[in-house]
Amino acid sequence: MMKFNPDRTYSFECLKDDLSYLATQYVNEVRLETIGYSVAKREILAVKIGTGEKIILCHGAHHAREWMTTTLLVDFIFRILQDNSWPWLTIRKDWLKLVSFWFIPMVNPDGVTLAQEGLNSFDNAETLLKWNKGSTDFTGWKANNRGVDLNRQYPTDWKSIDGSPSTPSSSHFKGYKPLSEPEVQAVYHFVKKRNIDVAIAYHSSGEEIFWRYRLNEEIAEKQLRPLAEALADTTGYRLINPSDNPSGGGFTDWFLTTYKKPSFTIEIAPSVGPQPVPLHLYKQIFQANELVLYTIAEHLIRKRMDN
Ligand SMILES: [Zn+2]
Repeated sequence: MMKFNPDRTYSFECLKDDLSYLATQYVNEVRLETIGYSVAKREILAVKIGTGEKIILCHGAHHAREWMTTTLLVDFIFRILQDNSWPWLTIRKDWLKLVSFWFIPMVNPDGVTLAQEGLNSFDNAETLLKWNKGSTDFTGWKANNRGVDLNRQYPTDWKSIDGSPSTPSSSHFKGYKPLSEPEVQAVYHFVKKRNIDVAIAYHSSGEEIFWRYRLNEEIAEKQLRPLAEALADTTGYRLINPSDNPSGGGFTDWFLTTYKKPSFTIEIAPSVGPQPVPLHLYKQIFQANELVLYTIAEHLIRKRMDN
């Protein structure tokens, strides 16, 4: 049995190797799918574990430099399949007939590759260099390889996101129209086809949880707050109340507004500035997030019994 190794720069190649290994090793437990392709034709991979009708979706690395969120999600997948300690064994033995987990560990494989390996594997290197203001250091890159910020691409309130920068950039460029990027289209269509009950968008950094966007008080308080507080308790992260004028275009903004079901942006790690989260912080990040899936699954199962 191969154990997961989180202690490395977790690349798209690592992801492909690990997920193929799991799909072969756990034929009956793991479903591996390609749900789309990035601009540079890297696979956007999704994994399903469980057969329950309640569906929990977790994705990571919309933002390139935030690739430690991929490490965390693949660690979760290995734990569900292999770890015999609590809470993982409880999930595996008792709950996978009641809930299903879908993981999309790396939404932005081109951006992650660029942030980790630099220009070498890109045929638009010259343009990328220009968008990176002439610097060959891409470690702080957030966008995809067309310079679009994938978490400013969802249709909810897209028009009102402030338009700067107005051209491709390492971060914050919202694109010329919503859903223009294939990575976001893949996630969008994936979600539309399924009846997802809770969606988690992993980002870094700030140790914060975004949970309500512009939803009105009644929906937010009744339907979202209990789970939001449970997640804040278990992670130790702060719940963020929306500012008066939150900017839209993010996955969670779209999911909350469209489906009115719980969705959270979880920002792992203390603020580290415009760079990847240093590897030495992984252990504390894993510990803070270890009960996130358990907490969500328990919430859904309890709700089901109440109904
Ligand atoms: Zn982010």
